[in-house]
Order: sequence, then structure tokens, then C-alpha cells
Amino acid sequence: MDNILCDKCSKHFNIKKIKERKLDGDVKVNYFTCPHCSTEYRSFYNNKAIRDRLFKMKQMQREIKKMTDQNVLECEELRVRYEEDAETM
Ligand SMILES: [Zn+2]
Repeated sequence: MDNILCDKCSKHFNIKKIKERKLDGDVKVNYFTCPHCSTEYRSFYNNKAIRDRLFKMKQMQREIKKMTDQNVLECEELRVRYEEDAETM
């Protein structure tokens, strides 16, 4: 499904790939281009500080996921210990 309408050539297209290009210093821009007329659409800018934070946020999300899984598991172990084991006694 082609869901993007190009402002310049008025043709529809799909984003195949978000590309990244270095601007100046440590600044980079993410963009995609219209396959019909090559117009560039910039999606977001970032610098090293932003990229470092994004990396750290991903690590924290993994850590949160790990802790959540651990909690679910331990909650279930406690439930079994205090409910199911109690029934058999
Ligand atoms: Zn176009």
C-alpha cells in the first residue's frame, strides 16, 4: 500500500528505508526520499548526546523488561506457595 503523498510530484509512495546522513559536527539527519522525484523528507535530527541517551534508554527498557518478567515469575511462585500448596496440606 502506497500511503505517502509527495508534496512535490503528487504521487503516492511507500517508505522503503529511512536513511541517515551526517550533517556537520556530530549532527545527523534521518530522511527518506520520494522514489518518483527524489524529493527529500527529513524525519528527525540527532546528535551524539541524543544518540547516547537513546542507547541508554534502550538498555533501561531491556532492564525494566527483565525486572517485570522476574516479578511476574516470583509473584506466581508466591501464589502457588500460598494457594496451591496450602490446598494439598
Ligand atoms: Zn515526488
